[in-house]
Order: sequence, then structure tokens, then C-alpha cells
Amino acid sequence: MNLLYRSDSEVARIIQADWERQQSRLQMIPSENYISGSVAEATASMLTNKYAEGYPGQRYYEGCEYADQIEELAKRRALELFGAEHANVQPHSGSQANMSAYLGLLEPGDKIMGMKLSEGGHLTHGHPVNFSARWFRSASYGVDRETETIDYDELRRTALKERPKVIVTGATAYPRILDFRKFREIADEVGALLMVDMAHIAGLVAGGVHPSPVPWADVVTSSTHKTLRGPRGGFILCKAKYARKIDKGVFPGVQGGPLMHVIAAKAVAFGEALRPSFRTYAERVVKNAKTLAEELESLGLRLVSGGTDVHLLLVDLSPLGMTGRDAARALDRAGITVNKNTIPFDSKPPTVTSGIRMGTPALTTRGMGEEEMRTIARMIVRVLEHMDEERVIKEVREEVHHMCERFPIPEVFE
Ligand SMILES: *Cc1c(COP(=O)(O)O)cnc(C)c1O
Repeated sequence: MNLLYRSDSEVARIIQADWERQQSRLQMIPSENYISGSVAEATASMLTNKYAEGYPGQRYYEGCEYADQIEELAKRRALELFGAEHANVQPHSGSQANMSAYLGLLEPGDKIMGMKLSEGGHLTHGHPVNFSARWFRSASYGVDRETETIDYDELRRTALKERPKVIVTGATAYPRILDFRKFREIADEVGALLMVDMAHIAGLVAGGVHPSPVPWADVVTSSTHKTLRGPRGGFILCKAKYARKIDKGVFPGVQGGPLMHVIAAKAVAFGEALRPSFRTYAERVVKNAKTLAEELESLGLRLVSGGTDVHLLLVDLSPLGMTGRDAARALDRAGITVNKNTIPFDSKPPTVTSGIRMGTPALTTRGMGEEEMRTIARMIVRVLEHMDEERVIKEVREEVHHMCERFPIPEVFE
């Protein structure tokens, strides 16, 4: 950032301060990760200067020969990585990918059926404040009160009653494996399309530690910046027969010019995820999450659904008489960054919550393993038990700093 420091130190200093924050705290928000230096270079490249509305070979602007090459390369790698029939790598984000897919597949007023936000779904799956419920009609399903996992019989009954045109699955706060085959059976029975939003688990799917939705879903949407460890962005995979509809949904449906620099960075990230070492990374992410979950449970915390199969877990703080908001704030002061999150059937509003959500993708990128997870679990419990004691918060923060120094954020991924 030498140039930026010289020309605009006001901006440079803020960027640098956030980078130091990232380095010196334990980043446990499960939707965050660290990109490689290569992904960062592509994201900062001069490809950002190019307007390339349209698709390779069919652009509305001249001078797109290299834009075409980079987009074709990103698409090829996405298809190789996920074994899909068609890919669109232009969505600016996960939410834009969902909006584009709905626009391609549905008419305004058609019905979608997605998982409740408060029980693990996403805003774009039909939450009343979101376009997905304002422009479309929406129905929702949730988890079973006892098991806190999806009850597929109940889901089937809701689908039969609601008759949605699209069933959406994929979650932001669901710690268990999704059974895509069952979703497919239910979608077929009610004559709905199946859309899987794998934003959170894309890296786990790429790394072979979560079953792939691609064989089962008509359309798969995703972000690129979560477990997949790419630049901030989105993409869509689909069966060949929906390719035209999906492409039209993205452009001209929702977006204008694609972010060519980000598409280049997506190509780099797909390339990194194609290497055998990414499988090892994905395996370690899940192993670390399971170890963290076991240790937190053994220290007396209650985990939603009793544990995890993936990269994240949800802690129910209500038995401790604590809110998610207070816990997340205290932990961040101690250098441990998590987020407050509703738990199924939460009695508190989303700004307060009874839960915290945490995950292992970023810590695993730093090279941390099971021993560190056990230490971190103990630090978390110590903070929760002494939330108002500044001395304890300070001690934990120092321990966090030492751990962060031992595990610098890598620039190059092996
Ligand atoms: C994160 C997420 C999104 C949205 O992605 P953005 O890039 O933040 O727009 C959509 N769906 C699910 C399930 C997510 O977890």
C-alpha cells in the first residue's frame, strides 16, 4: 500500500488498522476467512477498469478479449471443481446470485419455500423484510423443537400444503449435514424446482467433506468468500436446461457490468480449491469444529442440535442466563470475534439473541489445530464466566495475542 500511504494516508491508515485487527484477534465468524496473496492481487488488478456487459463472445463493449478469457477460465474451473453442467461466475455476491436465480426461474408473485432465518436460513430465502418475500410469495420451514434438526416429514407436509414453485435449502446457521436427496424427493413430489444455496458450505463441498448438492439440485447458488476462501462474490451452477434462464436472470435481469477483477480472483480461488491441499484444509476445518464443540460441551455449554458436522456451531446461552449480544461483545473485547445469533425458538429478538455462532474456517487457514481449539474453548468459557471482570478479559486478550503471533496469516497456501 506504499502508493496509497503517500497519496491518501487517511484511507491507508484505516485499511492498515483493520488488517492489524484481523491479525491480532481470533476470527471465529464462520462466514469469514482469509484469502491468499494471489487472490488479493487478482482482486486489486486493473481488470476493474473494463466494462464487459454480456457474456464471453457476446459483449456489448469492444476490447473484451481478455475479459472473455478470464471469465471462460473461471467458468471452466468452477465446472471442474463442482462437476456441474453450467456455471455463471458473474454474481456480485451470494444475495445477488439468489436474486438472479429467482428472477430467472420465477414470475413475480410465484411462491418460494425456504428455511426460516431464525432457525438457520438466510434473508434471501423468503424473509418478510427481503425482496424474496416482497416480490414473491414465501412459505417457510424450520427445525424440530426436540432435535433442532430439519424434520423431513414435516417439511414434506408443509411443501404439500404450500405447493411452492421453488424449494430453497442451504443455511447460514445450521450445524448439520443437509440431506439433498430428501429435498429432491420432496421437490419432485410437489412438482417444485430445487435450489440449493451452498454459500456457507461451498468449500466443504469442494473439499469433499459435505455431500455435493450438484447431482440433486436444479440450481445451486453460492458465495465465494466463506469456506471457499475466495474474493467477496457469488456464482451459480445449474443443469444445462436452465442455463439460459439463469444467465438472463444475472444479466440483464439483475446486474450491469461484471466485476472482471473479482472474476479473475474467483478463477484463482477455484484453482486453489482444485489442489489436493484444499481437501486437507476442508477436513481440518470440520475436525477443528468438532473438537471445539466437544470441548465446549465438556465445559458445560449447550450446543444447538448437540454438536456439529460442518464448520460452525451454535451455543445456547440461555441456561447461563446470558444473551448472545452481551457474550459476543465480551468475547470481542477479549480478542475472540464471534457473532450473536438466534437459536431455534429463541425468545429474544435478533438484536439480542440467546445464542452465539462460531466457526473454524479462518482459524484453520492460519494453521491452528485441535490443541488450539481446546485452548480456545477454555478461553471462551473463562470469558463467559467472568464477563464483567476486566482483569480476566485482559488476561485472555494477552493469551489470544500470543496465539495469533504463533500462527501468522499465511500469504501463500500450500
Ligand atoms: C452468506 C450467505 C448469503 C449471502 O451472501 P452475500 O455475499 O453476503 O450476499 C446467501 N445465502 C446464504 C445461505 C449465506 O450464508
